[in-house]
Amino acid sequence: MSSIAFERLSKTYPGGFAALSELSLEIADGELLVVVGPSGCGKSTLLRLLAGLDQPTGGSIRIGATNVDALSPAERNVAMVFQDYALYPTMTVRGNLEFPLKMRRMGGAERKRRIERVAGMLDLLPLLDHSPAQLSGGQRQRVAMGRALVREPAVFLLDEPLANLDARLRAQVRAEIAELQRRTGTTMIYVTHDQVEAMTLGQRIAVLDRGRLQQAASPRELYARPVNTFVAGFIGNPPMNLLPVRVERPGEIVFPSLGHSRLLLGRARAPQQAAVAGIRPEAVRLAGDPAEGIDARVQDVEYLGHETLLHFAHESGPACLIGRLPGLQPHSRGDAVRLTLAPEDLHFFDRSGQVLA
Ligand code: ATP
Repeated sequence: MSSIAFERLSKTYPGGFAALSELSLEIADGELLVVVGPSGCGKSTLLRLLAGLDQPTGGSIRIGATNVDALSPAERNVAMVFQDYALYPTMTVRGNLEFPLKMRRMGGAERKRRIERVAGMLDLLPLLDHSPAQLSGGQRQRVAMGRALVREPAVFLLDEPLANLDARLRAQVRAEIAELQRRTGTTMIYVTHDQVEAMTLGQRIAVLDRGRLQQAASPRELYARPVNTFVAGFIGNPPMNLLPVRVERPGEIVFPSLGHSRLLLGRARAPQQAAVAGIRPEAVRLAGDPAEGIDARVQDVEYLGHETLLHFAHESGPACLIGRLPGLQPHSRGDAVRLTLAPEDLHFFDRSGQVLA
């Protein structure tokens, strides 16, 4: 059993900086969890604490039924692949894969069995006698993963493992990692600051900000039901539009940043405490009927071929709303338009940014 449980895990560095604050999260045996958040939010700290490379200042960690707080890194059976993995340049691929096993004084027959198994899994068999200098970036990355996997770890940690690859290779290796995880059933934690990577890879994603867990949920749930404005603004590209609002009556909201335009919600209701309304760019529509919707002006146009991103503003004010519309839209900068925001597409958040039911 290689489930993982973080219980109120905290790490305050000397000097008082809290890199992690009371993080509680459980990861099931065989699960692939993606941890995502902006630079400095504590992602690497979390992995380092789990691997035993650093000590928490509060809380505890369990792997399976074992509390690992007092265990050394070697006793935890956790393998980690970093962004700046370095292969031994003078060893062949086989030598690189064999090295961690030799360090453990493993017998030759068992070493051979493990290397062939992992090399087969990662498509490295034809490359076993090559030196790292003869490999592509993606192949080197696979060797780095292989070197971690030959140890047959209970838990496999990947810290931004694709950061040094170009975009095309990144997509390919990402798919390979997901496939590898499915085949081996190894419990895996994958850290990235890239929300697109997180969304394509994760069965479940944990979003971190400033050392605190914001939400842990499936990609679909994070997108459809963000619990706060941080998650709403972090997931999605472009992210959810977040507009300050005032609720005059439960069925009527005012947008101060859009010239105090009013939106009548019909039978829908806005919670009285709503301070911010969120709407995804694809839910912003141009009104068919000029008598409907709210006034706006096109501030910027980005043609992406299959769709157009229109940036809207009030008069000549700053753009405050992005709409994602299909195909090539005929609008240009300065056009006056009317926008429809459907009540069922609106998310409401309170003054502190928490979602309102
Ligand atoms: P990135 O995506 O940039 O790698 P991260 O989310 O992995 O960031 P961490 O490396 O976990 O972030 O660091 C979290 C915070 O803790 C950062 O603000 C960092 O400056 C701080 N920090 C990390 N290590 C130490 C240390 N040894 N002493 C003091 N502060 C540290």
